[in-house]
Amino acid sequence: MFKKCTALLLCLIAIVSFSACSNNQADNTDESKITVSVTFNAIKEFVLAVGKDKVEISTIIPDGTEPHDFEPKAQDLVDLSTAKVFVYNGFGMESWVDDAIQAANNADLIAVDASDGATAITNTESEEIEEHGQYDPHIWLSLKGAEVQVKNIKDALVEADPFNKDYYEKNCTDFVSQLESLYNEYNEKFQSVEKKNFVTGHAAFAYLCQDFGLTQNSVEDVFAEGEPSAQQLTELVTYCKENNVTTIFAEEMASPDVSQTLANEVGAEVETIYTIESNEDNKTYLERITDNLTKIYESLTK
Ligand SMILES: [Zn+2]
Repeated sequence: MFKKCTALLLCLIAIVSFSACSNNQADNTDESKITVSVTFNAIKEFVLAVGKDKVEISTIIPDGTEPHDFEPKAQDLVDLSTAKVFVYNGFGMESWVDDAIQAANNADLIAVDASDGATAITNTESEEIEEHGQYDPHIWLSLKGAEVQVKNIKDALVEADPFNKDYYEKNCTDFVSQLESLYNEYNEKFQSVEKKNFVTGHAAFAYLCQDFGLTQNSVEDVFAEGEPSAQQLTELVTYCKENNVTTIFAEEMASPDVSQTLANEVGAEVETIYTIESNEDNKTYLERITDNLTKIYESLTK
């Protein structure tokens, strides 16, 4: 009797733990999805555009964190050791990437420099080199740059999951055609305006400017760190007046107060602009980039 009971109990325990185990697995990850680790929000957006419901994405740099100053801790890189694909921006945006890949010790990891094949803009001003490195990393804010990045991401997903090649290629083609139609629309608009200069918080828009023949001037370039000197402020005020700048753009993570100070001095208005370095207002890449282009264009027509 005792033996029978024990056997039954053991059997029950086995069944319960077996079903608990399989439940657990289903809750945690869908094993049919490709696990992709990305460095920050814009890259996540591109992976999502191509991989849609076939990818499970984890982002290394947490939302709301200034990505240029980011140094990962061991816990930030946990997902890299099991991920199938790792996508980073490149052009020096993530100086820690080589060390992270090595530390992940993941022989099957497909690591992708999303900027591979694109031409970098070289930083010339010493303050820019100090903040952003030798190259300007902000290529994802250009529609042409985004196209290169999305195609590199597509190639990586095809390599990781060749069975769904057609799916990734179709999504990539759809996204690229959206980028291109947006480019054509705004290229025509920017060609039609005489004013080509705008002022932002941090100098993130050089690639976007290159797309459309525009010029950016940034508040941070002039003020650098800390309090602006009276002379620097005067210089930028003069610049804004000479170029008839009526809008000063401000970003969530870069010097909104300084943008406001300058705007007051010049009698300009402050508008927000997205750098897509972090999740902003829960908007997609295309929503934010369209918003940026609309606001820049409007500022040039005033
Ligand atoms: Zn930046």
